Order: sequence, then C-alpha cells, then structure tokens
Amino acid sequence: MNREKAKLMQAEVCDIAQKMYRSGLVAGTWGNISARIDDDYMVITPSGMDYERLYAEQMVIANLHTLEYEGNLKPSIETIVHAAIYRDRPEINGIMHTHSTYALTVATARRDIPPICDDQVQILGGSVRLAGYTRPSTQEMADEVIKALKDRTGALIANHGAITIGRTLSEAFIGSQVLEKAAMVYINSQCIGGPVEICQEDIDFYHDFFLNKYGQK
Ligand SMILES: [Zn+2]
Repeated sequence: MNREKAKLMQAEVCDIAQKMYRSGLVAGTWGNISARIDDDYMVITPSGMDYERLYAEQMVIANLHTLEYEGNLKPSIETIVHAAIYRDRPEINGIMHTHSTYALTVATARRDIPPICDDQVQILGGSVRLAGYTRPSTQEMADEVIKALKDRTGALIANHGAITIGRTLSEAFIGSQVLEKAAMVYINSQCIGGPVEICQEDIDFYHDFFLNKYGQK
C-alpha cells in the first residue's frame, strides 16, 4: 500500500464526512463514507463516532478482501457493503451511505425513483433502483446493493437509506445530494398528478455527457 496515498485518502474521507454532516444528509452518527486507496485497501469512517469531532488519523484503513483493519477504532459496521462494491466496480473510488429523510421515505414505500430530473439521470445514470430488504451489515445486503447499482451510481436500500458511488468521493457526495433531491421531487410530484419520466435516449445522452464531457479539461 502507498502510505502517502493512504494519508491523503484519510484526510479526504474526514473532510467529506464533516461536509456530509453539515449538509444534513445524516443525523447523529448514522451514515458512513469511504474512499479507495488501491485494489486491496480502502479508508472508511469509524463506527459510531461524532462527526463533528473526527480527525483524519481516525479514519480506518481496511482490507477489501479480508475486512481486516488497522488501529484501535472499529470501522463502520457497513464495511462489508463498501468492500463488496469496490471489488465489483474497479472504476469506483468513493462511496457515501446515508439514511437521509426523503430517500428513506421512498425506500420505506419500497419503490424505485423513476428517471425524472435532468441532474439525477446525468449523475446517477437513470432511475434509482431499490435494493431488496435484508438485515444491515450482511453479505445479503451487499449482494442486493450491487444488483441495484448495476449501470448506476445511486440506489435506495429498502427501509434503510441510500447509497451513492463515484469516480471520486466528491462525486459520490454530489450524487447523494442529487439523489435526496430527486426523492423529494418524486414525493412532491405525487400532489400534482405524478412526474413525467425522461426517455432512455435522453438519459443516455446526459449520462454520457456527465461521464465524458462535463467540466473543465
Ligand atoms: Zn446504514
């Protein structure tokens, strides 16, 4: 493992964890985030810590294959899900998991969020699928989440919350804000007759634009 990179990733995870906390996407110590170091290791938030008092060295380095970790602090109880995603998706370098209110509302109704907002389809790749209900922190949850994330960067988890992934942790953070907003819009739109979905051709166009052409060169 490259120790310099591991340190940089610890600083980034700590920084985004505090941003996530201030964004209101998590309450108390719920929610967890991680960043990949390489093919074998990731950095993940410790279990049950106060987000306002975190510092970079407390971010836990864990093995993606054995789930063994360094140091005295236990990693997030959802380490098994994060590790499984990194093993399944080599292009993914950051993961954010929240129990945010609107995403959780749709997830308790056990529905998908259809493809309805331009920013949602650009960043998350289309509809936000629901991962079936399982007990938290199990291999079954990891399997369901990976299935729901196929060709997407965001998913709901039945009766539990949401998860977003990105080429960087910052991208996963933006994804979690976009997902939460899409869930809110989906719920609100029920009051005025329900949303009209964006067609697949436009979804493909926007998502390709985001992945390959968006931003500064
Ligand atoms: Zn959770």
